[in-house]
Amino acid sequence: MNAHFPEPDDASERRHISPLVCYQVDQLPPYNATFFERAKTNMRKIDEVMVAPRDASTFRVPAGFFFRIKSVEGSQVGDLNLWNANAIEERFFSGKTRQLQATHVSTGDRLWSTMPGLRPMATITADTLDWYGWDEDGGGVHDVIGTRCDPYTNFMLNGVDYHYCCHSNLTRALAQELDISLSDAEPHIHDVMNVFMCTGFTLDTHQYFMKASPVRPGDYIEFFAEIDLLGALSACPGGNCGSSHSDDQTPCYPLLVEIFETLPEDLTGWQSPPPNGYDRSHGVN
Ligand SMILES: [Zn+2]
Repeated sequence: MNAHFPEPDDASERRHISPLVCYQVDQLPPYNATFFERAKTNMRKIDEVMVAPRDASTFRVPAGFFFRIKSVEGSQVGDLNLWNANAIEERFFSGKTRQLQATHVSTGDRLWSTMPGLRPMATITADTLDWYGWDEDGGGVHDVIGTRCDPYTNFMLNGVDYHYCCHSNLTRALAQELDISLSDAEPHIHDVMNVFMCTGFTLDTHQYFMKASPVRPGDYIEFFAEIDLLGALSACPGGNCGSSHSDDQTPCYPLLVEIFETLPEDLTGWQSPPPNGYDRSHGVN
């Protein structure tokens, strides 16, 4: 950012105001680790989906069940979309999740849905990469700031068609899942949670950067489904996202999605969150 206007006399004073966290998130119910531990007492794997490299697959998780995304074979990043399985218009809201949680998410963070639902869709209950924290470049793991690699941006920058960007992979997978056309499926694809991806903003220019993911086979991130979920996961053509993107050169590996059922007695006291309570009149009587 090049400045074109001179600093005012009180520039320093204006810059030295203490930041204020925007949302009073301490008013939300705190993460209840004890409850989630109890919920896992009789957890049993009932299904798994292997997501092929440079492709995407869908999966369904009933409210009250868990799912894990697991690294297998090699270091690989995944692009995750989530929808309300009963009303696809309600989907993961990357921007609001970023504001309510942080730029990168881990255990205890909630993934929020779009308005007017605006409620937790899933809660992260385990993350074997939580040791990573923030690195010296300001990078972290599992961001909700990137969008997803897509063929339109790639065409704009490189002038070629590439068909296995996460956006296209997710579009094909959703079209197949819902038995709808690609053009009907595409508008439902949304900004992702970048699972296992290591990203940040450069300290000097604040540009979005990526670096090779620290994920290794055996690592996983675990989610509790707060509502009935339809998910789609793309094994990004960027592989570990340590070099290039949107091509067939980078080594890519599959990702495993595992679904776990729970017993109702282990969920005592929990209720699937209802849609947001705002009356939606927008000031019109
Ligand atoms: Zn991608």
